[in-house]
Amino acid sequence: MTMTEGPILDRPVTFLPGIGPRRAAALEQLGIRSIRDLLHHYPFRYEDLQIRGIREWEDGRRIAVEGILAGAPRVRLGGRVPVITVQVECRGTRLYAVWFRQPHVVDRLKQHRRWRFVGRWQAARRSVVVDHMEPVPEDRDRAGASLHAGRIAPVYRVTANLKPRWLRTWIAAALKSGEQAIVDPLPWQWRAKLGLMGRAEALREIHFPGDWERLRRARERLVYDECLEFQLPLQYIRWSQRRRRARSLRLTRAQWETFLAALPFAPTEGQRRVLREVAGELAGDSPMRRLVLGDVGSGKTVIAAAALYAAAASGGQGVFLAPTEILAEQHARTLSRWFSACGIPVWLLTGRTAEKRRAACFADIAAGTPGILVGTHAVLGDVPYAGLRVAVCDEQHRFGVVQRMALTRPDESIHLLSMSATPIPRTLAMALYGDVDVSILPGRPDAAARRTTRWLPLDREEDAVLEVRARLARGQRAYVVAPAIGREAEHRRSQADVTSLFASFRDKLAGFSVGLLHGRMSGADKERMMRAFAEGEIQVLVATTIVEVGVDVPEATAMLIYHAERFGLSQLHQLRGRIGRRGDDAVCFVLTGRLTDLGRRRIEAFCATDDGFLLAKKDLELRGPGEWIGQAQSGWPAFALVDLVKDEPWMRRAKRHAYRLVQSRDFWLLPAFGPLRAHLRRRVGCEGDLSVQG
Ligand code: ADP
Ligand code: MG
Repeated sequence: MTMTEGPILDRPVTFLPGIGPRRAAALEQLGIRSIRDLLHHYPFRYEDLQIRGIREWEDGRRIAVEGILAGAPRVRLGGRVPVITVQVECRGTRLYAVWFRQPHVVDRLKQHRRWRFVGRWQAARRSVVVDHMEPVPEDRDRAGASLHAGRIAPVYRVTANLKPRWLRTWIAAALKSGEQAIVDPLPWQWRAKLGLMGRAEALREIHFPGDWERLRRARERLVYDECLEFQLPLQYIRWSQRRRRARSLRLTRAQWETFLAALPFAPTEGQRRVLREVAGELAGDSPMRRLVLGDVGSGKTVIAAAALYAAAASGGQGVFLAPTEILAEQHARTLSRWFSACGIPVWLLTGRTAEKRRAACFADIAAGTPGILVGTHAVLGDVPYAGLRVAVCDEQHRFGVVQRMALTRPDESIHLLSMSATPIPRTLAMALYGDVDVSILPGRPDAAARRTTRWLPLDREEDAVLEVRARLARGQRAYVVAPAIGREAEHRRSQADVTSLFASFRDKLAGFSVGLLHGRMSGADKERMMRAFAEGEIQVLVATTIVEVGVDVPEATAMLIYHAERFGLSQLHQLRGRIGRRGDDAVCFVLTGRLTDLGRRRIEAFCATDDGFLLAKKDLELRGPGEWIGQAQSGWPAFALVDLVKDEPWMRRAKRHAYRLVQSRDFWLLPAFGPLRAHLRRRVGCEGDLSVQG
C-alpha cells in the first residue's frame, strides 16, 4: 500500500473539463494550480438554499424554490425595463418568478416544465426575483445533486474574472476525479476514537454538505488535520531537544542568595515563581527551551539576568541578544551594575563596538573566562565562545526563528530563554509556541507606578498639549506618536504623519527641544536621536511606532498618540508601556479621529484596562484571531479553517497526539500529511535529523 496520495491530485487544473489557460491563470491568482489546491479552496461561507415550504421563507432573503410552470411567461414592456413574470406551482402554493431586463429567459422557460429558481423572496408580492435558474429533468430524483440550488450551497472567494458558480462546478469535478486518490493519514482506530469523519468524506462535505451537522463534522476533521500538521514539526523539535543532554547548571543556595542580593529590589511573587521555573530547568539535564511572556514593564530583565548569572556562576558563559543597540547598551549597563559586586564581567558587542574593544572581548571569551556577552545581531556572528551555556533572546518576536536557533547553533545543549512582551492568553500561547515551555509573568512590579490613559477627540488636543507642557516644565519628557511617516496629502490634512506633527509641535512647545524619529531615518540617525532623548538633550520625541521597543527612559511620563484608532490594541499597549517606568505618575493621551463602532469599543477597552493580557483577550474577542495575530506577530501560521479561539481544544489535542506520534517514530504516517521536511526547513532552517529516521 502506498501512503502517498495519487498523482491525479497534483495534475494542473487544466486537466478538468471547462478550464482552459485563461481560467487557469485566473485561478492561479487565488493560489490554485493543482486539483489538490482546488479541493483545499474552502468556502468562506454557505448559503442555505435548501428547498423549503413558503412558511419558512423570510422576506428579503435569498431562497431556492422548485416548481412547475403554471402558465406562459408574460412580458411587460410598459415601464423603463422589461419585466418577465411567470406563475409557478410550488408544493401546492402559487407564486411568481420575476426577471428584470432579461427577455431571453422567455425562450428558455419554454424548454422545460419543472425548474429550480434561486432569488430574493418578496413576501408582499409573492414573488421571487430570480438570479439563478436551472431546469429539473422530469425523471430526476427530487433530491438530485444540483450544485447551486436545493442545497446548502458553498460560497467561494473569487477574483474579478471568476464567478463563484464556476468554482462550484470545478470543485465538484475535482472531487469526482480526485476523491479516490485522497489518502486518509489517520488509521481508522484513531479516527474512531476521536469520532472523526474520513478525510475524503470531510473534503466532500466541506464543499457540498449534506446538512449542517455533516458540515460541522467535516470542518472538525479538517481542523484537526490542520492542527496536527501544524504541531508535527513543532513537536518534532521539542522531542529532539528533550532527547539532548545539557549541562546541568545547579547553583548552591549561597550563589542564589548572592544573585538576589545583587538586585536593587526584591523580586515580586510572579518573578519568584518564574525564577523557580527557570532555575529548576537549568538544573535539569535536558536543555531549557522556555519562553517568558510578560507585559511591557513586567520585569523580564530579572529573569534573563538570573539565567545568565547561572551560566557565569557555574563557570560558563552566557549571551543576551537584544533587537537594538540602545536596548543592548541598556541591558549591559543594568547587568554590569547588578553583577559588578559578584565579579562577573559583562561584555558589550554591537555594530558600534570599536575593533580594538571587540578583539579584547573576544580574547577574554576565547580564553574561557566566565561572563556575560550582551549585544545585537553581532553576537550571532562568529564569537569564539568557550563554554557557552545559556542564551537569552529579548523581544523574541523581533527575531526570526532562524536567528533564535542561531543562538544555540554552537551547541544544541545550550539553554535558551526567549522573552516577549506580546501578551497573549495562556492557552493560545501554549498551542502556538508548541515547541517551547511557556512562563507567564503577571502584572507590573511597581504597583506604585500610576499610569492613566485619557481619551480625547483630536479637536481637543490642546488639553493634552497643556498637560505635556506642564510636565516638561517639571523636567519630565514626552513622546508624541503618529501613525504614518508619509506626507501624502491625506495624512497631512488629518495630521497623521510624523513630519507634520513634528513641525506643529515645534511651534506648540516653543522653548523646549523637540526631536523627530521615524523608520526612514538611517540606523545611526535613529540611534543618535533615541540617545539624545534618553539623555535629556531632547525633551519631546515625535515618532512613529518605532519607539515601541526602545529604551527605558524613566523621565518619560507622558505620551500623546495621534489617531489611536489606526493602531492595533496590542501595539497601543506596547507604546503605552514606554512611559511610567519609574513610579512617577504617567499619562497617556489617545487622540482619535472618526471612529467606527468597533473602533470605539476598542479604544474604550484600551482606556479601561492597563493589563496587557486582559487587553489581548479583549482584542481577540472584538476582532477575531486572524486580524489580531496578523498584527501581533508576522510569520504566524495562516490557517485555512482553524480558529485559534474556538478550536483551541483541537489544537491542544493535536499537540499531544503529534508529540506521541513523533515519539513513537510512526513516521510512516507523516508523508501523507504533506511536506514535513519543507515545514521544518521553513521553521528552523534545517531538517533536524529527520533524514536519519527515514
Ligand atoms: P520588561 O523588560 O518586562 O518590559 P523591565 O525588566 O525592563 O521590564 O522592568 C521594568 C522596570 O521595572 C525596570 O525599571 C525595573 O528596574 C523595574 N523592576 C523590575 N522588577 C522590579 C521589582 N521586583 N520591584 C521593583 N521594580 C522592578
Ligand atoms: Mg525588556
